Amino acid sequence: MRSAVVVGAGVGGLAVAGALARSGWQVTVLERAERVRPEPTAVVLWPNGVRALQALGLGAGLAAIATPLPDGGVRRPDGHWLVQPRPIPADRMPVVVHREDLHDALIAGLGERVELRTGVTVRHVRVEPGERPGVSDGRHTIEADLVVAADGTDSGIRRQLAPESRVVSSGCAAWRAVIPWYQAPRLPDDQPLAGEILGAGYRFVAASLGERGSSGGSSRGGIYWVATAAGAPRPEPPETQLALLRRWYAGWPAPVGALLDATDPADLVQQEVRELRPLPRAYGFPVGPGGVVLLGDAAHAMPPHLGQGACLAFEDAATLASLLREARLPDAVQAYDRVRRPRAATVVRQTRRMSAVLQTRGRLALRARDAALGTINSRLLSSAAASAAQWRPPT
Ligand SMILES: Cc1cc2nc3c(=O)[nH]c(=O)nc-3n(C[C@H](O)[C@H](O)[C@H](O)COP(=O)(O)OP(=O)(O)OC[C@H]3O[C@@H](n4cnc5c(N)ncnc54)[C@H](O)[C@@H]3O)c2cc1C
Repeated sequence: MRSAVVVGAGVGGLAVAGALARSGWQVTVLERAERVRPEPTAVVLWPNGVRALQALGLGAGLAAIATPLPDGGVRRPDGHWLVQPRPIPADRMPVVVHREDLHDALIAGLGERVELRTGVTVRHVRVEPGERPGVSDGRHTIEADLVVAADGTDSGIRRQLAPESRVVSSGCAAWRAVIPWYQAPRLPDDQPLAGEILGAGYRFVAASLGERGSSGGSSRGGIYWVATAAGAPRPEPPETQLALLRRWYAGWPAPVGALLDATDPADLVQQEVRELRPLPRAYGFPVGPGGVVLLGDAAHAMPPHLGQGACLAFEDAATLASLLREARLPDAVQAYDRVRRPRAATVVRQTRRMSAVLQTRGRLALRARDAALGTINSRLLSSAAASAAQWRPPT
């Protein structure tokens, strides 16, 4: 039986572990945290992410927890529409999912055959010529035919195999929360919730997770919002961070203020936004008869402006599982590298263009941006949406 060690039990690691186990692999997942616990926020999955999860056999589980996200357009903080909302065909419509629901679906997909070991920090990957690859926590080494590094942005395995790729700040921080329905403000029917508001270095996006009072859709329903602001994360306690957010976003169109007011500080998740520059020179490393691959944020951490990080992790997982069904190791590892590097590079390029639009500051630059945004942004978003919609899992 072929064996794999997956390092990291984030969404990427869990998705690939379940897929390999369902293809008959013996899989061990090593996670440094004592408990595998997702953050209490949500994630937007574009059609590529949805398709990848379907290819991984998780489509039915996803359908039960996902809420469609109609296009909400883009506004300025003064309410002026930069890009009007447009109808999106059903097969191009993203969905929004509570991360805890997604986590449950991925855990259910592991089945009985995956061994999940928590509290294990991998410190070294063994890549000796002629030997099977292995990973070590400094005391024990576990060998396998395949090592999947799904250990996130700060991946130690990537640092060892592709040291040229460094983690840098993207120059902004993000705050997210899900306001449960019982705490969420009631909004007038004509008030747009979905959609994006763009200011100078500031951005606010909100979406519904399921419907108020409905048992369908997300089982952890509410209103999800994400605020991004230029600068570093704040050292103050969550109450003060929320007060700062209220000040920064004062005067923005409804329901921004009402959503910030209704957020419980305990539900606020703050994060520095970081990315890899440059991207690793390789995603697949043949080692003896097997190999090591980088997957998810370990391979291509990027700012969340296009909401593609988790989607690409699922694409990676679906591609790897498919290639391993078709080809032997280490050929499949080389094929994975050939397929995934250009794909990730395209999405990262689109995301960086979006970062440049978002981070425009200064009155003249902003005026020029706003004048151009109607076309730039809609062109940029539609090329990103098209590339998301066009992706198909390899057959
Ligand atoms: C504000 C924000 C909003 C976002 N919104 C979206 C969105 O809407 N749509 C979207 O597609 N993406 C979004 N993303 C990106 C998405 O969250 C990530 O791309 C995704 O979670 C990456 O998953 P992963 O499994 O690769 O890494 P992670 O989730 O980081 O998991 C890595 C795991 O590895 C473990 N680990 C690390 N080192 C070791 C070690 N040495 N030994 C053992 N275990 C280890 C960690 O504990 C962790 O559990 C967003 C990101 C941010 C910051």
